[in-house]
Amino acid sequence: MEGQIEKLGPKGPPSPAHGATATLARDLVGLSREELGDVFAGLGESPYRVKQLWHWIYHRGVRQFSEMPTFNKQLQGLLAESCRVARPEIHRFQESADGTRKWLLGFEDGTEAETVYIPETDRGTLCISSQVGCTLTCRFCHTGTQRLVRNLTAGEIVGQMLIARDHFKEWPSPKEGRRISNVVFMGMGEPLYNYENVAQAIRILMDGEGLALSKRRITLSTAGVVPMIKRAGDDLDVQLAISLHATTDELRDELVPLNRKYPLSELIEACRTYPRAANSRRITFEYVMLKGVNDSLVDAKRLVKLIRGIPAKMNLIPFNPWPEAPYECSTPKAIAAFADVVNAAGYASPVRQPRGQDILAACGQLKSASQRQPKAAERN
Ligand code: SAH
Repeated sequence: MEGQIEKLGPKGPPSPAHGATATLARDLVGLSREELGDVFAGLGESPYRVKQLWHWIYHRGVRQFSEMPTFNKQLQGLLAESCRVARPEIHRFQESADGTRKWLLGFEDGTEAETVYIPETDRGTLCISSQVGCTLTCRFCHTGTQRLVRNLTAGEIVGQMLIARDHFKEWPSPKEGRRISNVVFMGMGEPLYNYENVAQAIRILMDGEGLALSKRRITLSTAGVVPMIKRAGDDLDVQLAISLHATTDELRDELVPLNRKYPLSELIEACRTYPRAANSRRITFEYVMLKGVNDSLVDAKRLVKLIRGIPAKMNLIPFNPWPEAPYECSTPKAIAAFADVVNAAGYASPVRQPRGQDILAACGQLKSASQRQPKAAERN
């Protein structure tokens, strides 16, 4: 495709992460400070070592214990015998004509997930996956057609950030002018169905002595797992995005089947009570524009009524097609008219520019290649 650079690999230099010792050595990425303390205790070392290790892994991006000079040779050797600082493997890397980048990452069990980087003028957003595949089967989403699903571990989630940081050589963690300034959980999977691992990963992303992302620059996006929304608000207090997409239960039941479990009234109530939702901390409602399905002026007016009183902004997403998708994108005219109604009611409603379409990196297009092949083979 025009403007598309595709690089296979790199598999990277041989490291313990890919060798026979990999399964024996414990990956330290994704462990909490407490868990790392236990690792050092097991080696007869004091817990203050955790602070040093944290600095090397998350502030400096170092992967080899031999490159951590605050540890003497003996300790470096002990660590290398039983532990490692791993990265997911890069199975494929693509760069779009518009600067969007997409990684297909491979994990130890051979499963894969995608991570996308989206550069904008005032920020750079890393879109992270929380699961391999997704159980939700939203009708307009490509990821939902993937069969294999498992939760990603905290290490695999944080690993996506480390890979992107490696790519930009953004080590040590800069305070200003970061290429990766924001993280959104809008890749593959439903983050609130993998809550513990996502929460642990977010705590690592936010840790001021490491990756040091502010909670205002981290967005959890959910299709509406109502009981977990409150929990996430209490525990993590990050930005919240809701994949709304419909204004009646009848339609939302069809587009987002999770709605049958947690209907609109409960979802909206959870948003109303999301802690510290305020004008400076608005909730984002994502709304995919589907031609003739949810894009009428009646829908727009009902939407405004539905979210009235919630500090919110809308994110109108032109539907991104994928092979055999059952929907079409609304016309630009319909999207503009819809946005006008929402704007007039006082809500910012930018229309999201599709990014990275030439590499299938846009919302709802993510699906790992390993999953595409078996299906194609099946058809043959
Ligand atoms: N499960 C979470 C995280 C995925 S976020 C959630 O639902 O919020 C991915 C975002 O892209 C969601 O808002 C999703 O509804 C939207 N999306 C999915 N498929 C899409 C498509 N084909 N075109 C445009 N947006 C899509």
